Amino acid sequence: MRVLLAGGAGYIGAHTAVALIEAGHDVLVVDDLSNSSAQAIARVEQITGADVPLLIADVRDEEAVAAFVRTHAPVDAVINFAGLKAVGESVAEPVRYYDVNLGAAIVLLKVMKTEGIRTIVFSSSATVYGDPEHLPLSEESRTGIDLANPYGKTKRIIEEILRDAATADAQLQAVSLRYFNPVGAHESGLIGEDPTGTPNNLMPYVARVAVGSLDRVGIFGDDYDTPDGTGQRDYIHVVDLAAGHVAALEHAGPGYDVFNLGTGVPVSVLELIAAFERAAGRELPRQILPRRAGDVAASYCDPSKAQRDLGWTAARTIDDAARDSWNWQSRNPNGYAGD
Ligand code: NAD
Ligand code: UDP
Repeated sequence: MRVLLAGGAGYIGAHTAVALIEAGHDVLVVDDLSNSSAQAIARVEQITGADVPLLIADVRDEEAVAAFVRTHAPVDAVINFAGLKAVGESVAEPVRYYDVNLGAAIVLLKVMKTEGIRTIVFSSSATVYGDPEHLPLSEESRTGIDLANPYGKTKRIIEEILRDAATADAQLQAVSLRYFNPVGAHESGLIGEDPTGTPNNLMPYVARVAVGSLDRVGIFGDDYDTPDGTGQRDYIHVVDLAAGHVAALEHAGPGYDVFNLGTGVPVSVLELIAAFERAAGRELPRQILPRRAGDVAASYCDPSKAQRDLGWTAARTIDDAARDSWNWQSRNPNGYAGD
């Protein structure tokens, strides 16, 4: 299969590019590098030995994307990672989030139609579940567009756009993958998460503390109704997540489908910090802070649908993720900017 990765220079896209190439597929990437570096693609080429064509453009530039696809025809599938993903920023700049995230998805569907591409896999998120009514979360759990932030709403709306598109076109194969909390890095230490500025997410924040560029980990609340009082999440190693995309592409059939991609194992903030301390071989300074607005106490999935229908299951543990994240962070203390 030849697969167009929109937003493929980003954290999850670069790992998925490696997984696809290692599974025998060809990839090409369109990315505007608004939150990534061309260096990530150079590193993907270094890991795999493959040539990865990169178009530096906004995915919403329909003409440019269509021309790129034609140059590399036949393209068999699209994976849409492209978009903005900072929850807090989406509250402050909702119109920009709707513009970029919905615009990217719609343009990709239009290009697929004109260029005869039938398969699309979309990066959705566990955030579509909002505050869970029941745990673990299955694909049938309640979702809504009455979510707390515009980011989550863009994911939910795009899921519905894909469902409608697949209803209207019997040949379309559309899959939404609801990621839980992606963490870790490729075991080579050549690619990993490289957030600009201070990280919002826990593991990259902990990694920066471990490498000495941030002082201490702030723990957002220790009075949740969880075993140790800190928030629990379902941390999925990015290499497992990448394999989930390969499985979704290889198993996609006509129509629309949705899968949770997670481990099913809840891990607390304190447990994640402890795993990172084991990986880095040092104690990490931490401080209890008030709860962060909008956070839920616990979120983890029932991953059995992906196991049953895609033959996919997460193989890596939180210790594997901490080890690989530390390896990436300590080899690349300034991320790709160090090159
Ligand atoms: P990322 O920011 O590293 O990757 C997204 C990529 O899209 C970046 O390379 C960015 O430059 C590119 N991009 C953004 N807007 C674009 C545009 N208009 N045109 C072309 N390229 C554009 O993020 P990631 O962590 O790899 O996430 C990938 C996808 O998965 C996103 O859609 C995100 O919302 C979703 N997701 C991420 C997480 C997470 O915690 N990382 C969790 C759930 C869902
Ligand atoms: N968290 C924390 N300190 C941080 C960042 C996150 O205590 O600096 C907690 C957060 O409250 C949640 C968990 O870590 O319980 C995961 O947060 P993250 O932002 O990584 O992912 P989310 O599940 O919010 O998307």
